[in-house]
Amino acid sequence: MALLWLDDVRAADLETVGGKGASLGELTSAGLPVPPGFVVTAGTYRDFIEKSGIDEDLFAAMDIDSEDSKALAGAQERAHELIMGTPMPEEVRAEILEAYRTVGTDGEQAFVAVRSSATAEDLPDASFAGQQETFLNVREKDLLERVKECWASLFSQRAIYYRNQKGFPHHEVDIAVVVQQMVDAEKSGVMFTSHPSTGEPRVIIEAAWGLGEAVVSGAVSPDNYVVDRKTGDVADVTIADKKVMHVKDEATGETVEVEVPEEKREQRVLSDEEIAALVALGEEVEDHYETPQDVEWAIVDGEIYMLQSRPITTISDSGAEESSGEAIANGGAEATQSSGDVLLRGLGASPGIVSGSVRIVTKLDQLDKVVEGDIIVTEMTMPDMVPAMKRAAGIVTDEGGMTSHAAIVSRELGVPAVVGCGSATRELTDDQVITIDGDKGTIREGRETKDVEEREPVEDVRPKTPVKPMTATEVKVNVSIPEAAERAAATGADGVGLLRIEHMVLSLGMTPEKYIKEHGERAYVDEIVEGVRTVAEEFYPRPVRVRTLDAPTDEFRQLPGGEDEPNEHNPMLGYRGIRRSLDKPDVFKHELRAFRRLYEMGYDNVEMMFPLINDAEEVYQVKNLMRETGINPDKHDWGVMVETPASALGIRSLAEAGIDFASFGTNDLTQYTLAVDRNNENVADRFDELHPAVLELIGSTIETCRELGVKTSICGQAGSKSKMVQFLVDEGVTSISANIDAVRDVQHEVKRVEQKLILDSVR
Ligand code: PEP
Ligand code: MG
Repeated sequence: MALLWLDDVRAADLETVGGKGASLGELTSAGLPVPPGFVVTAGTYRDFIEKSGIDEDLFAAMDIDSEDSKALAGAQERAHELIMGTPMPEEVRAEILEAYRTVGTDGEQAFVAVRSSATAEDLPDASFAGQQETFLNVREKDLLERVKECWASLFSQRAIYYRNQKGFPHHEVDIAVVVQQMVDAEKSGVMFTSHPSTGEPRVIIEAAWGLGEAVVSGAVSPDNYVVDRKTGDVADVTIADKKVMHVKDEATGETVEVEVPEEKREQRVLSDEEIAALVALGEEVEDHYETPQDVEWAIVDGEIYMLQSRPITTISDSGAEESSGEAIANGGAEATQSSGDVLLRGLGASPGIVSGSVRIVTKLDQLDKVVEGDIIVTEMTMPDMVPAMKRAAGIVTDEGGMTSHAAIVSRELGVPAVVGCGSATRELTDDQVITIDGDKGTIREGRETKDVEEREPVEDVRPKTPVKPMTATEVKVNVSIPEAAERAAATGADGVGLLRIEHMVLSLGMTPEKYIKEHGERAYVDEIVEGVRTVAEEFYPRPVRVRTLDAPTDEFRQLPGGEDEPNEHNPMLGYRGIRRSLDKPDVFKHELRAFRRLYEMGYDNVEMMFPLINDAEEVYQVKNLMRETGINPDKHDWGVMVETPASALGIRSLAEAGIDFASFGTNDLTQYTLAVDRNNENVADRFDELHPAVLELIGSTIETCRELGVKTSICGQAGSKSKMVQFLVDEGVTSISANIDAVRDVQHEVKRVEQKLILDSVR
């Protein structure tokens, strides 16, 4: 038997059917409404590689130096070739196809979901178990190939890397494949049968339109329903603005992301009856497993289906009594209760609502007191604070705007933040419990009982590249800290439009000069290489634009070694960007050496970008330094940031100097065009990236660049704003780079504007 029907599978069959198969079998046998299906067993995979004789080659191909990324890619490719190139035995093919035809009612047109189900899923690091491949809406003609692709997913680069690193034998991991009738969900979501962090008897349901991936992958903010299990009452309903949904494209059968029709966007997804039916099912599952569950569900034609159930792992031992240090983030949806008084207001810099205890941090040595779930309250964050920022549930600062360190880093870490509150460090006190709203920019007294998610992510069923609209204009993402690379890559962005290296350099804890003096030149280059490599690897082969150092002197002055920095009246107009690099070629050349090393390592997706350029003379000097460092400027893509009116007005001569691209740094371009210091709160309301003068400079630069074949891009904060996106797409910009959390919205905005342009052109 090559396969087992879900009806016949039990939890104990884990080794034969893998974690996912075992869980679905267990639910089916408990009489719960699981879509019918079967599992191609792990033994079938094993027979396939052993009987065909590819096993020896397959495992031999894994014997590589896994630090060598080319070798790693080669090993993955070899495994894929061997598995995909070897025919399935005839009797296995016949058995799978026969089972498939009984699953659906539509013969060879039936749609099924095909998912890998690894037998090593319970290992501490799921990366051992491969890529967790998921294929939706598969029909007969593709089925066998998809099953083999699930087998091959056991040899993803990441899985090979981890198993080699940990010395875990490749031949000890097997893989099963679940094939299940596709549920064309009209609505779907997740349900926690008890409160995910306190364990209280409250059912939390998240629901959105269409297939469940949109909820699980975070593509949409779902409705949120809270049900008191003791009384059965629906205690809270939060209707979200549901912008997108995932549906099956009837023509191709593929899953596509579409906009939710206007009238349904703010419509409530679940009726009281549906909620009651879901809660009843949830209680049944919880009773069956005798522990609270995290359930994925779908509804079609009034029928509820359960797609997955797993225990909730985030409930704390102290249970419902726990009152401090616990964060309840709601991923950006409206709060269910906004009862607390607004204590302070600032700029909503990183979305999300979160409650926690205040930790006032005034000196670096106080960072230890920040524990998981606390809210850091500080004058302004510094690169040394990043580890504590990662632990924190939220961040509040007295100073800074939307482009400050606190705003950029918290957005990338996905930690809600309110910046520029003026006097938070004076008005709040340690241990005070507050709720911050990173969308509205408010800080309220007390904890808000928004009962959602401080939970491990539900199994990551995101396709490797998420479903995203196809656009002619590329949509990229900004990254400042290498730790955010994975999150950034998961957006499906077309590359990185700006990787700021100063966050890496400043986090060395001293000025570059001092670091080099104490640790040597090699160590400094190594640090840059390692930081950039993390991002370049994550995105490979998508391009990653890395910008050379651009930190103002006031940031260096705060670091050890900063004593010799000039004390500037206005650092924003001072000694920073390329002017500093050209003045200190010894330090600058280390950055160029890092690029050279990355190119030698094969990261040909890395592009160099130079900040605060004013004229072609500077570009020629940079090119000379490139050559002196052994980089041939003609062999790699590199370009400049257009951040001063001078560079916009002189773009023709910059193009003649050989740039491949020009990227608008609108944070600086705006401050220099309008004479509005971007760090000065007194004039913050006059900072307007959409000012006609700024747009005029951008528009004329794009026009000249189009004429001269130079690519254009934006990497300033304004690239995340829909009005700027509309303007740029209209003008014909090549790419737009947005913050991690804005990428999806920008993709849709770009698509919308492009479609309108096409329609206008044929009218
Ligand atoms: C800009 O100026 O718009 C930019 C992206 O650079 P930074 O914010 O780092 O100055
Ligand atoms: Mg800038």
